[in-house]
Amino acid sequence: MIERAVIEEAVTSLGEPRYRARQVYEALTRGLVTDFAGMTTLPARLREELAARLTPVTLTEIETRVSRRGDARKTLFATADGHPVETVLMTPARRATVCVSSQVGCAVGCAFCASGRLGLRRDLSAEEMVDQVLSAQRALRPEGRHVTNVVFMGMGEPFHNYDETLRACRLLNDPEGFSLAARAMSVSTAGVVPGIDRFAGEALQLNLAVSLHAGTDVLRGELVPLNRRYPLAALFAACERYVTRTRRKLFFEYVVLADVNDTAEQAAALTRRLRRPLYHLNLIAYNAAGGPFERPRPDALVAFRKRLEAAGVHCTVRRSPGDDIEAACGQLALRKVEGAAR
Ligand code: SF4
Repeated sequence: MIERAVIEEAVTSLGEPRYRARQVYEALTRGLVTDFAGMTTLPARLREELAARLTPVTLTEIETRVSRRGDARKTLFATADGHPVETVLMTPARRATVCVSSQVGCAVGCAFCASGRLGLRRDLSAEEMVDQVLSAQRALRPEGRHVTNVVFMGMGEPFHNYDETLRACRLLNDPEGFSLAARAMSVSTAGVVPGIDRFAGEALQLNLAVSLHAGTDVLRGELVPLNRRYPLAALFAACERYVTRTRRKLFFEYVVLADVNDTAEQAAALTRRLRRPLYHLNLIAYNAAGGPFERPRPDALVAFRKRLEAAGVHCTVRRSPGDDIEAACGQLALRKVEGAAR
């Protein structure tokens, strides 16, 4: 992926008309072309000159694994400087959702998350995020399908890389390029309060999700260390400011850990916080990621959901496709982390 302004600069500096830049940009974002040689609408000399100046794709695909049910595929890429990046494409029913990584590793260090165990290596650029989506679109094309949703919920804390994440959203939304509706994109934060306030003021109608995982400060401080910096009172004050300003629904993600955060005490604490018309809680059963936690039994998960619903919380159990390929929530980077530990 190359931003349009960069293409225009290169094209005009070669003395070519501006419409050539539009042709290149369309070839990348709509034609899904990965090299200049494939841009057959351009004169051969221009293709060669651009190839000498610009790199159309920022990530190299290393390996793709497909889940048994065929509803999830996880791709491992390498950045130009050799870092691993993982992206998941989930294709249940008619949707095709790309789960994008915004950083290599993550500094937040959630107790149940494989990516957190990597630590932060570096931020990804907007182009590296967009290339994850374009690669997924390439995989879908033979089936005549398209990416319907993008969620920034892969490796990394998007609000620790705010500017590039928002730039990626704008690039994906560009009506002259990939043209994905802002409402089809969701950015997920572990609770970076200044990021939530800034996000509330964005002109794009993007969705926001907050990874909650506990209803009390004591437990959340153990599971999501960021809670010590932004405790629940501060986090929910920011959530209130967000819904007041945007009037948009706010999603809370909750990885359910058996007998840890699915207790009656947590349900009561969650109810006090979440019983609001614009709040919606998504429960996701934990996927074994080598930590000290267990996946909840299906009946325990249903009971927890019913307890919350009966108390007035809007709540859904989300299935996590791809747990057999370590593509489910909290499992990205698992194999590499385990490999490094050996
Ligand atoms: S769950 Fe998200 S925020 Fe927490 S460590 Fe993993 S990638 Fe980072």
